[in-house]
Amino acid sequence: MAVFQARKWYSRSFSSLSSHPLHICVVGSGPAGFYTAEKMLKAHQAAEIDIIDRLPTPFGLVRSGVAPDHPETKIVVNQFSRVALNERCSFFGNVSLGTSISLAELRDMYHVVVLAYGAESDRILGVPGEDLKGIHSAREFVWWYNGHPDYKNLALDLKSTETAVILGQGNVALDVARVLLRPKRELAITDIANHALVSLEESCIRKVYLVGRRGPVQAACTAKELREILGIKDLYIHIQEADLLKSPADEEELKNSRIQRRVYELLSKAVTSQPSQPRSGQRELHFVFFRRPDKFLHSDNISGNVTGVCYEKTILKENGGSGKQSAVGTGQFEDLECGLVLKSIGYKSVPVNGLPFDNHKGMVPNIRGRVLSDVPGEHTFEKGLYVAGWLKRGPTGIIATNLYCAEETVASISEDLEQGLLTPSFPKPGREGLGQLLDSRNVRFVPFSGWEKIDVKEKADGSLRNKPREKIVSWQELLKVANE
Ligand SMILES: Cc1cc2nc3c(=O)[nH]c(=O)nc-3n(C[C@H](O)[C@H](O)[C@H](O)COP(=O)(O)OP(=O)(O)OC[C@H]3O[C@@H](n4cnc5c(N)ncnc54)[C@H](O)[C@@H]3O)c2cc1C
Repeated sequence: MAVFQARKWYSRSFSSLSSHPLHICVVGSGPAGFYTAEKMLKAHQAAEIDIIDRLPTPFGLVRSGVAPDHPETKIVVNQFSRVALNERCSFFGNVSLGTSISLAELRDMYHVVVLAYGAESDRILGVPGEDLKGIHSAREFVWWYNGHPDYKNLALDLKSTETAVILGQGNVALDVARVLLRPKRELAITDIANHALVSLEESCIRKVYLVGRRGPVQAACTAKELREILGIKDLYIHIQEADLLKSPADEEELKNSRIQRRVYELLSKAVTSQPSQPRSGQRELHFVFFRRPDKFLHSDNISGNVTGVCYEKTILKENGGSGKQSAVGTGQFEDLECGLVLKSIGYKSVPVNGLPFDNHKGMVPNIRGRVLSDVPGEHTFEKGLYVAGWLKRGPTGIIATNLYCAEETVASISEDLEQGLLTPSFPKPGREGLGQLLDSRNVRFVPFSGWEKIDVKEKADGSLRNKPREKIVSWQELLKVANE
């Protein structure tokens, strides 16, 4: 039925446009995908844009990354929804590049393909014991509490230990620590997935260690996020005073960065405003600096669960003339006991067949969004193929960063069109071809109207519990509701 309705829709939209629309496919419906679509619609009146996403739900990490207690950050989905509802734009959820359709097929069907499918894997530490039970990436934990349908069954044990170690001190690490430590009645009125809320309510985790290889001057978080975690009610904060001592190189770094200065000031203030010991049973947050994981520890029993982390102490060494300092090992080691480890050391993109890919950096080689061919010795571009967002720049930056990133990619597309490097006058099947191909493979895509049904149901279910929404977390249920 959905396919039939969509077919009718194609023919309508086709006949109302010029004889050869410029067919564009954007892969990924996160911020980079939507900003690209928005800018392309504005810049090119003949553009007809299809956004495909492997999930039945749009908005990428705005739905599955941004923390549940940051509702104001998610308001941007209203802007993205207006883009999706533009008559020259269509959303195809439940369509996965690499599984439902190949890159070669998309490039055959569209004049321009923009890949904006983010970073759905993790950097690894490469230290012994990384595969032990009880060690997860922050991405997995975040997807779990945000109701990503791939991670609703994450085997997460929050009951057998009081202590969690988070490796990394960036904003994602702070999000994860805050979700573990925040009073659960405060989380209960957010859009956190229900299974996560229930587990967190029963959680025994009381002590969280946030561990970084470098010092408080180099902590990779921003002041807003730090202030928020330091402000959690009735939370004991611990930082070794000695770690706050600054070297001349630290002073120089602080002089050059306002963000680092504010973070350092907040950490210093946190030390002086705390009692020397936590009260019995009080929740605790420990900032641990100058430590890098050397190996993960486990007991000799058969459970295979992590029991701690062995760290090497580090010191900072200046990094050439860059003004930055890197951590180097001192050969001194110490162990920290814990029953849960969350690695927040960075996301990583994954390649698809036929896509030039830099495996070391985990991103697509490109110049201003134009994908570079991987023909050895040549410096040529892949015709009609572009990237945006985390797949283009690597996994850094906030939502708004993707706006500038998309603008740059769209400017490259516009230049290439002007210079006749693309062939818009040559008709391509675009949306119609995509619909037929998916149909022939029995891929039942979810149109934006299907997402709107999910949205309505989630909001209605949420209102019963005084939540903004109750996320539907299983693939089966999402597809059922979308296709009703
Ligand atoms: C935990 C976390 C919290 C964050 N919190 C904030 C915050 O509070 N404020 C802020 O401004 N920024 C925040 N960010 C950063 C922000 O989310 C990113 O900058 C932004 O989402 C990156 O956009 P993107 O479009 O490149 O990737 P994504 O948002 O990841 O979107 C990629 C999309 O591609 C889809 N996809 C993946 N593979 C395929 C495939 N094979 N075929 C089809 N589709 C595919 C995915 O389903 C997804 O919808 C946070 C990031 C993380 C990880």
